[in-house]
Amino acid sequence: MRAVDLIRRKRDSEALSPDEIRFLIDGYTRGNIPDYQMAAWLMAAWIRGLNPGELAALTEAMLHSGEVLDLSDLPGRKVDKHSTGGVGDKTSLILAPIVAAGGLLVPMISGRGLGHTGGTLDKLESIAGFNVNLSTAQFRNALHACGCALIGQTAEIAPADKKIYALRDVTGTVDSPFLICASIMSKKLAEGIDALVLDVKTGSGAFMKKIEDAEYLAGLMVETGRRMGKKMVALITDMEQPLGRTAGNSMEVAECIEVLGGGGPADLRELSLELAAWMFVLGGKTADLSAGKRLAEEMIVSGRARDRFREIIRQQGGDARVVDEPARLPRAKAKRDVTAANGGYLATVDCERLGIACVVLGGGREKKEDSIDPAVGIEFHRRLGDPIERGAPLATLHYNSDARLEEACALVAASYGIGDKAPASRPLVHKVIGAGE
Ligand code: URA
Repeated sequence: MRAVDLIRRKRDSEALSPDEIRFLIDGYTRGNIPDYQMAAWLMAAWIRGLNPGELAALTEAMLHSGEVLDLSDLPGRKVDKHSTGGVGDKTSLILAPIVAAGGLLVPMISGRGLGHTGGTLDKLESIAGFNVNLSTAQFRNALHACGCALIGQTAEIAPADKKIYALRDVTGTVDSPFLICASIMSKKLAEGIDALVLDVKTGSGAFMKKIEDAEYLAGLMVETGRRMGKKMVALITDMEQPLGRTAGNSMEVAECIEVLGGGGPADLRELSLELAAWMFVLGGKTADLSAGKRLAEEMIVSGRARDRFREIIRQQGGDARVVDEPARLPRAKAKRDVTAANGGYLATVDCERLGIACVVLGGGREKKEDSIDPAVGIEFHRRLGDPIERGAPLATLHYNSDARLEEACALVAASYGIGDKAPASRPLVHKVIGAGE
């Protein structure tokens, strides 16, 4: 078998067999197939799509590229959440401690920033010393000690996704429902969970901009998880504007700490409680969603979620003092406001462009080898529908280098559309797929 033939056949819309897909994934994971051939195949798959057999084969080949954890010796239900990615999408850092404090185990394998979206691992690494590269044994120990561990794909767990994810990030092959499904489900199925809550984003800052595409992706993932015996639910949630008040790694960690302390922006708090509630329901901790929300709120009000976050950070080698002293998180040296050119109402937000501005500031990657500046980011002052006066600040850029500052400012300015009427308000959760089945 030759990779070039499989690239050509996918390019010509032919379906590949499970053996052929396994050959590609194994070959790439082991280093026998180079980046350029895998990138070409991914682009062909992005353009031509995959049939159900190919998608199942791709997910399984990626899942079995490494170890599939068996956590059945750890008492308690194991539940996780995964988002398809957005701007300012930081709920994992809030949910994981809430749900672990509420009595479920949360073995979480996350990703780095992808395209214009941020990633949980990059956010966590803005906490000095935080180690997302735990071995399988350390992952188990952390779960045992504090009910939660947050790591990345490793050489042992989901190594194919680790390599393919980094390649897709820089080759324009992220926003395919098939590639997203295989990426998310291969790592989630490897982590030994009983149930999974999916947060599928839709809107200008999501990979699936249209709600029908988000529903299609949600359906693919729910079906894939159920076929493997997992309890699944997918929430289609809004990403027409950034979630919360900030995008940028350390700034987002600070915002999560605010929510865990009982404050923080309303949208971030509300979505976190909703997702945590679904985790409690799927994990059998509460009978229904409202009881799940009450339990999540109780974990915040009692301070138990915040305590758990300190423990998680400590367990993974990080400086847990940031929870009480967020000023210890990296901070950018300088700030610049972007102001409104005219007055009216905030009518549109090009949320993807805001995410790209964050990457341009150094908060994300444009090439595989790029390193990230944890301190930079954007603070958002206005939400859709807000009245705006001419000259009012719309956003503040936090930066360390002015090399690309003007470019980032221009992107931010171009992201906001001001009109004379407030747009119709959008729900935070558009739909729930798979509830009650
Ligand atoms: N999150 C993932 O883990 N993978 C994707 O492909 C997109 C979002």
